[in-house]
Amino acid sequence: MPVEDVLHRFLLERAGVRGTLVRLGPAWHEVAGRADYPPVLHAALGEALAASALLTGNIKLDGTLSIELKSSGALRLLFAECTDQSQLRGLARWNGSLPEPLALDALPDAVMAITIGNVERGQRYQGLVELQHAGLAGSLENYFVQSEQLPARILLAADAGHAVGLMLQKMPDEGGHAAALDDDAWNRIVQLTATLGVEELLGTAPEQLLYRLYHEESVRLFEPRALAFGCSCSRGRVSSMLRSLGRDEVEAALAARGDEIEVICEFCAQRYHFDRIDALHLLSEHAAPGAPDTEQ
Ligand SMILES: [Zn+2]
Repeated sequence: MPVEDVLHRFLLERAGVRGTLVRLGPAWHEVAGRADYPPVLHAALGEALAASALLTGNIKLDGTLSIELKSSGALRLLFAECTDQSQLRGLARWNGSLPEPLALDALPDAVMAITIGNVERGQRYQGLVELQHAGLAGSLENYFVQSEQLPARILLAADAGHAVGLMLQKMPDEGGHAAALDDDAWNRIVQLTATLGVEELLGTAPEQLLYRLYHEESVRLFEPRALAFGCSCSRGRVSSMLRSLGRDEVEAALAARGDEIEVICEFCAQRYHFDRIDALHLLSEHAAPGAPDTEQ
């Protein structure tokens, strides 16, 4: 059973708590290696990547789930995405020196959104995450408590080796238990989880971690799901992007590079080339969302 690039769902049956644990290794290295990220941003990107997978744990995903944070400060963009095929990608953009620590609630004009849906079919749901915590985990936790009206606990951590996320949610009350008993059980799980240090979270294989923490809580593990780095870019999508820029921009791009446009995907470094004939051809086409060539 893999211990890296894996998502585990579990139940703490006696306590009425469900959980998801994500542990990323190689998939995280792929994302982290795309740019020379400052350490503080490297950690934030790892946390966001783990979180994007973590949040798919208990939903029926059709399309992608993305976490996107934009600000007008030194941190311009933090983006992470997980698809229904369990493929992960992410990136960050920054400008100048980043504040340390990188407190999300202190970023100027910061907006964070979780977007879930299928771009091809135009079915998307977007929720805004209030940034009232310095860390990503606290902000996401708050979002879940507000949107689902159920207590939640989220832990995120990343270093050079791994990006890890743990999420716990109290299950909806089915009427069989006294509410006070449920609260006791939830508090007990929260206290057990609070004993977990960052090093232990990053350095322990998933099953070992869950049994170590919750061995007295009858942990029920579901079949784990393999995760992997993957990019959904395609020539069709790049063509749509160029088309959306309009003729003047495309002409300027052609002129700047000897009648050729090169687009390099920031997520996966795939290069796409368009000569003048290609460019004129794509400008003459009508945008056709869902056309077969946008799928790869
Ligand atoms: Zn790509």
